Amino acid sequence: MQKYLRYFNSSLNSPYFYLKNFKQLPRIPKFARKSENDNATENATGGGSWIMDSNLDLLKMRKVFIVEDEPVLRDTLSGIFRDSGFKSVFVAGSVAEALRVYGENLPDIALLDVNLPDGDGFSLMPQLKSIKDVPVIFLTARDDPDDIVAGFEGGGDDYITKPFIPKELVARTIALLRRCYREDGRIVQLDGAAVDFSRAEVLKGGERIPLTGKEHDILLMLYNNAGRVISLDRLCEAVWGDNRYGYENSLMAHIRHIREKIENDPSHPVSLITVKGLGYKLKI
Ligand code: CA
Repeated sequence: MQKYLRYFNSSLNSPYFYLKNFKQLPRIPKFARKSENDNATENATGGGSWIMDSNLDLLKMRKVFIVEDEPVLRDTLSGIFRDSGFKSVFVAGSVAEALRVYGENLPDIALLDVNLPDGDGFSLMPQLKSIKDVPVIFLTARDDPDDIVAGFEGGGDDYITKPFIPKELVARTIALLRRCYREDGRIVQLDGAAVDFSRAEVLKGGERIPLTGKEHDILLMLYNNAGRVISLDRLCEAVWGDNRYGYENSLMAHIRHIREKIENDPSHPVSLITVKGLGYKLKI
């Protein structure tokens, strides 16, 4: 792993320390590195205020897609994002797998390795963008300036060379999500009510009705995929993560409560619709 992650030899900064302890650390101690890198990280996280940022939770509901052919690094990357609070992380190890997984999950941001066993990230990017146009970060050992320029000229939004710093990678990803999905902080108008995701409140008939954390997560998942049917399994995964099994009844209870808050007539919903045998969808 040394060749992928910087500062490996210090136990504090090793990826394993990082993965195990990320949630407990309010801030990772500063790395010894150039000041412009420090500035880049600070700016990307809004001056270090990311823990207090209410919109951050919304951004972390966005789906992250990682293409990396090195299995250990692929798992490490996935772990870095999950431990940073991202709920939906999808991975692929080749061009062929990337096209399949991307098409199935329609992510919101993609991190692409360049050297892949059956092709390269540069030519993969337009294929992915033709399925769904999302921001792309190249994450590669190729640090030749011509490669970096090619990455940007081809339509990439950022270019990070290995070895990389996990915290900086997450910060850059969040910064890019923030630029590309500014609407995440806005109020969403539904048929019978409006939803203020940043405050986790429903505005209905002049009242502000609070959403519970689970109700908020379910509604946000549906909103991020508005108009599309989302299966019970996907919703459970968005709310309970990998421990999602056995929560179907619980999910249905949450759906009922959400309808009581957002629908004029909860027994005849017009916004949060049941699609029999498939799941739920949100009509906007
Ligand atoms: Ca590679």
